[in-house]
Amino acid sequence: MRDIIIIGAGPAGLTAAIYARRAGKDVLIIEKAAMGGQMTFSPLIENYPGMPALSGNELADKMVEHALSLGADVELDEVTGVEDLGDVKRVHALGGSFDAKAVIVATGAKHRHLGVENEERLTGAGVSYCAVCDGAFFAGEDVVLAGGGNSAMQEALLLSETCKTVTMVQNLAFLTGEETLRQKLAARENVRVIYHSVVTGLEGTDTLTGVRIRNTESGEESTLPAAGLFVAIGLLPDTAAFKNALTLNEYGYVQADESCRTNLPGVFTAGDCRTKAIRQVSTAAADGAVAALAAVRYIG
Ligand SMILES: Cc1cc2nc3c(=O)[nH]c(=O)nc-3n(C[C@H](O)[C@H](O)[C@H](O)COP(=O)(O)OP(=O)(O)OC[C@H]3O[C@@H](n4cnc5c(N)ncnc54)[C@H](O)[C@@H]3O)c2cc1C
Repeated sequence: MRDIIIIGAGPAGLTAAIYARRAGKDVLIIEKAAMGGQMTFSPLIENYPGMPALSGNELADKMVEHALSLGADVELDEVTGVEDLGDVKRVHALGGSFDAKAVIVATGAKHRHLGVENEERLTGAGVSYCAVCDGAFFAGEDVVLAGGGNSAMQEALLLSETCKTVTMVQNLAFLTGEETLRQKLAARENVRVIYHSVVTGLEGTDTLTGVRIRNTESGEESTLPAAGLFVAIGLLPDTAAFKNALTLNEYGYVQADESCRTNLPGVFTAGDCRTKAIRQVSTAAADGAVAALAAVRYIG
């Protein structure tokens, strides 16, 4: 029986482990893939306080080392569900079951990918899924943004501050989302929107040089020269394993407020997998602290 089981070893889960261990609790982290989570895909992180510029892997290594040095245990396994046995929570994984007094779900999210040729190869070499994270690397450049919803419009506005031009590629005849954002975008001279179009391929050997698009009405194909492609077609929270135990919102995020409590007493949630406005390393770490201290209080 553990005091706290943390599911997911991204910044949220690792911060939760640090706080829980410093509160004297016995902690097991269960991680199904890479220790460090999404950070390990980021070539450069420049917005984590106190760390002006380092690779995602370096930041991940520091957080992992910190959590492990305080005595958190790690199990490499994939969690498939959480069962409520009253004062005990049973965490089911592919390799077996683990019991704890409290559980923190910190399973993060994945950016939806376009699924086009060269996308994986050029990720980090022109292709990005986060304008807040990577927009500054494309100052003065021409960039393309795939998507047309609220987050895509917000990303386009942000990119237009520093990039030479921002070309949005939207599959529909209009931008979905808020009118105020549409108006702000329309006022930006360096932003244009190409409607009824989808990205079909990416060009570039070492780094991205162009984005191939197709007009879905005429079938016409063309290439937009670009140093960057930002993909903003949605996030997929990694929460399917919890759909029977926890309340998820319509997009699959675990329902929780700033206290990081879920609908199930003794189960907390932190980071990108929960309902929230901003999904970043710093906000995930902040959640980890809040969730861990809430779990510590719950155990008593
Ligand atoms: C390419 C890229 C660049 C980025 N750049 C920046 C940046 O510069 N600055 C910034 O602040 N943010 C950046 N981000 C966003 C940032 O990485 C995330 O907001 C942050 O990692 C979220 O942390 P998390 O702990 O909530 O989730 P994650 O980092 O997603 O970690 C969740 C972990 O849970 C594990 N997991 C999921 N399901 C299970 C399961 N069933 N069983 C066991 N383990 C499970 C996953 O394998 C993963 O390791 C970037 C993201 C990407 C993809």
